[in-house]
Amino acid sequence: MFGMRFDIDCHYGLTKKLNPLLEVLDKYGIKATFFCVMGRDANLYEIFKLRILARKKTIKSNAMNPSGASLPPNLPKIIHTLSFPRYVGHTHPNILQKLVDSGHEVYPHGWSHIQWQRNIDNINLREHLDRCTESYYKIFGKYPIGFGSPGRVYNETALRLFDEYGFLFVGDMDGEKPFRVTPFNSIQIPVTLFKTIAQLRSENLDCDAIVDRYFQHIIGNYFSVIYEHPDNLDAFELMVLSKLFEKLTCNGIRSMTFGEIYDAVSGDC
Ligand SMILES: [Zn+2]
Repeated sequence: MFGMRFDIDCHYGLTKKLNPLLEVLDKYGIKATFFCVMGRDANLYEIFKLRILARKKTIKSNAMNPSGASLPPNLPKIIHTLSFPRYVGHTHPNILQKLVDSGHEVYPHGWSHIQWQRNIDNINLREHLDRCTESYYKIFGKYPIGFGSPGRVYNETALRLFDEYGFLFVGDMDGEKPFRVTPFNSIQIPVTLFKTIAQLRSENLDCDAIVDRYFQHIIGNYFSVIYEHPDNLDAFELMVLSKLFEKLTCNGIRSMTFGEIYDAVSGDC
């Protein structure tokens, strides 16, 4: 059971980087699950306030970069984002609908990524989720059954609200397979190999070695999910994904969306 997850964190990733990725996915018949920020990019004030001033705060986050390797800054994304903060999911219904029409699944990834990730205990989570779910409803005519917390940051209030908002599955916690956290109803569908292509590349692995690392993880485990961010996918990353998907296809391994994974495992969780 293999899933491919993409987190769309910003306007740049949604509007500038999806088309070449969709071509690769379509070429190999890979059906992926996209979690998209529905609100807007962070502005300079939020970045300064929440990233710099809050640096000393303890962040309830799982490791975002377990390798510990420092990654080069993505300058085009930084310039694009800071030049004029833009809205992400809810003002681009055509792009999100195109993903669904292509056979992929789309779910919210928060309203403001930076506010949720950096300040979850101090924001109005209900208001945040209302905005996510209502904007999603306007696009798809139905409420989302899944949710991916920005930065995989969560607290007890969030977990309780996920049930209240009817999310059948969320992707917040570490794990080797889908599981339910008592007393909550929603199922956690974890990323099982939490290293992006850029992180593996920073460990001096070349294209074939990265493909093999992912492939061995996928064939070596009954359940596996790997993840990426479209905004970070340039030619090298797309080549890795192409080779990986080709290898999976040749070995008869098909991808499952999170909705399909939920249907397959919910009775056992
Ligand atoms: Zn994210």
